[in-house]
Amino acid sequence: MVSPWSVGFLDGLRPEDPLTVSEWSDRYRRLSSKASAEPGPWRTSRTPYLREPMDCLSSDNPVQRVVLMFAAQTGKTEAGSNWLGYVIDNSPGPMLCVQPTVEMAKRLSKQRLESMITDTPCLAAKIAPSRARDSGNTMFSKDFSGGIMMLTGANSATGLRSAPCRYLFADEIDAFPSDVDGEGDPVALAERRTTTFARRKILLTSTPTVKDFSRIEAEFQRSDQRRFFVPCPCCGAMQWLQWSRLKWDDGDPDTAKYECQRCGERFEEVHKPKMLAGGEWRATAPSNGRTAGFHLSGLYSPLGWCSWPQLVEDFIRAKGDGPALKVFVNTRLAETWEEDYTAAVNADGLMAKRLDYEPGTCPDGVVLLTSGVDVQDNRLAVSVWGWGEGETGWLVWHQELMGDPTQLEVWKQLDQVLATEWATASGKSLKIKQMAIDSGGHCTHETYNYVRERAREGVVAIKGSSRRNSPAVGKGTKVDVNWRGKVLKKGVTLYQLGTDTIKTTLFGRLRHNEGSGSLNFGMAADVEYFKQLTSERQALRYHRGFPIREWVKKASSRNESLDCAVYAFAALQIYSRRMNQATMWQQLQQQLEEGGKTPLRSRKQQPAPAGPSFVSNW
Ligand SMILES: [Zn+2]
Repeated sequence: MVSPWSVGFLDGLRPEDPLTVSEWSDRYRRLSSKASAEPGPWRTSRTPYLREPMDCLSSDNPVQRVVLMFAAQTGKTEAGSNWLGYVIDNSPGPMLCVQPTVEMAKRLSKQRLESMITDTPCLAAKIAPSRARDSGNTMFSKDFSGGIMMLTGANSATGLRSAPCRYLFADEIDAFPSDVDGEGDPVALAERRTTTFARRKILLTSTPTVKDFSRIEAEFQRSDQRRFFVPCPCCGAMQWLQWSRLKWDDGDPDTAKYECQRCGERFEEVHKPKMLAGGEWRATAPSNGRTAGFHLSGLYSPLGWCSWPQLVEDFIRAKGDGPALKVFVNTRLAETWEEDYTAAVNADGLMAKRLDYEPGTCPDGVVLLTSGVDVQDNRLAVSVWGWGEGETGWLVWHQELMGDPTQLEVWKQLDQVLATEWATASGKSLKIKQMAIDSGGHCTHETYNYVRERAREGVVAIKGSSRRNSPAVGKGTKVDVNWRGKVLKKGVTLYQLGTDTIKTTLFGRLRHNEGSGSLNFGMAADVEYFKQLTSERQALRYHRGFPIREWVKKASSRNESLDCAVYAFAALQIYSRRMNQATMWQQLQQQLEEGGKTPLRSRKQQPAPAGPSFVSNW
């Protein structure tokens, strides 16, 4: 016998409404005019390929992890939003939403979530307006009956360590840092929050990035790899759409047609709505029943979002431009970009592209000089680099100053380099404004001594660090030198360099070496110089199970000219910090035109850098 009291009690515990996420969305979800190009009621039929991924997130579906490797403009973000709404309204529990950064989490909360809640009546009824005092509704946390939604960024270990959660939505995971505050992988950190829930759900989405470094691709490869098969409008053969089968007349995107892989017939985009409606997801890899992976390219974008001609146009524009093509491949095709990280920049290729200018002179465009010095046991390797608009660089001079750095002699030669006025193409002259000397290897004390005396002349000490993802140049820190038993008060400013970061930048520029930002060499740069400059290459290594790229030196080769270039580039960054970035090059240009007045006569009086111990060809 059931008493009225227990009826009420059981009623409160009634099982979750067995709606699926797509059914809930079609019934309740409203798209706001603020956040959507197609405001009004949500219709799953507009993007039929979203039905199955969304329904895998329904409470009674056995799938635990849903992986979406989707192109931009395919609706994956809305699918995620629908799930959020479904959880709040239909299947409440604690939920954690992770965006790449805290800033982006804030934007998601303010722009998307708020408008979804306001425009969807059943959600508005469950979450108090954020203006109300004590509403339980803040930027990063929304209370609702039976649950709470927390928002954070993958760059905040604190946010990821929050309370246990049954639902996890990690959005754009390829933009997550590989390590957060030294506590490891942010996705793993967030997933750990869900382990106490038997009926947990995890949604991971992203457009992919670089091959072997893409989280979403790795997740997709561990899944059952579902592809959306659609019927050919001509023969009915089911197939998944691939970029290589899209054909067009040379230079005319409007002629874009898809070539069926069975009947070979070419058909236009107008057939898309019918094809999408007749499509189905098919797994292409064995399944463990708990992880469902979905891949979708921009070829499936509904009519009116991103057309085939638009894709072709984007492709034609990006072709031949590495970075732009990468964006196309990642965001339009939802495929990873195969970066040529194993290929070293070729020394012969750089030799062949040398420009015709004299060593020790600044070609047209140079408005600033920096220098990088590598300290070895028996010599200092010195490069002087000229810089102009857009960080375009010219190697002005490179030399080995022979001598023992524990003795003064070799440092006196370096003083000559500092004192030299280098002739510019316009008949003016420039002096080195910033010199960075490596203090990390040999003769740290001697280096500090030299730097301390010449801080006013722009000489700084640097120390390389190959820690991953370090900034190119860290904050300068004062180091007090304990020299011959006493602490010197006038400390030296030491800059930590992210040498791997700088090398990646420099090699990227050498690879696409044209125009603004290019690095240029005169005829004096010889085979040995380029051999050293290209003596390192990136190799793939695994760290805690994650692939990382690392710069490694080729066996038994010297790399001083590369180190000198890295330090001179760091010196440029250190110098730039004191300038207004927007007007820096203009200012330097003006300074050169107005100042840099050294007449030829007095320039001749300057000691030439080619002293007795300077090697001949420079
Ligand atoms: Zn066909």
